[in-house]
Amino acid sequence: MDAIERLASLFEHFPGIGPRQAERFVQFLLRSSPGVRRELAESVQALARDIRQCSECMRFYSGESKTCGICASASRDKSLLAVVASDADLAALEKSGTYRGGYFVLGGTLDLASEKTDRLRVKQLLTHINDLRSRYTDLKEVILAFPANPEGDATAAKVREEILDLRNPNIKVTTLGRGLSTGSELEYADPETIKSALEGRR
Ligand SMILES: [Zn+2]
Repeated sequence: MDAIERLASLFEHFPGIGPRQAERFVQFLLRSSPGVRRELAESVQALARDIRQCSECMRFYSGESKTCGICASASRDKSLLAVVASDADLAALEKSGTYRGGYFVLGGTLDLASEKTDRLRVKQLLTHINDLRSRYTDLKEVILAFPANPEGDATAAKVREEILDLRNPNIKVTTLGRGLSTGSELEYADPETIKSALEGRR
């Protein structure tokens, strides 16, 4: 495999990218200046160097501290925990400006074909909930904020079941209201839609 094929096969692993698009990315880089290629290579390396994963919410963040700014903040509402599929969904909720609680990034949604959950951080979520309960006794509600599609619904059902098995009757488990139209990704929803989905949760 030469350098062109190798890079193309790497791009093919990107979400939503097929062989033809991967090939076009490589052609673009071949036509680009050495400076552009260097900047891209250095940015990729900087991800490993500068970005950490928060040991509490599992999101990626830039910084030296052990936990991210959201988890470390004293002004966040400790009675609420939103479980999201991805960092992008967390960013969308955060950008809406209406949610002030904590987060947990599950790392994806359930694959309907296999129903396997080993890719997802379900066990870590349960540990995190127990941990929050022992540190802040006021955790009252876990909001399952998954995409409004069959995978998101199946993930919510599974996670809800696991949380209820913790036998913590004081924790309420809710899902977002359907202000989000079916099939829509949280990531692409506008702030108003997210706000109404949050207000309509049950
Ligand atoms: Zn965090």
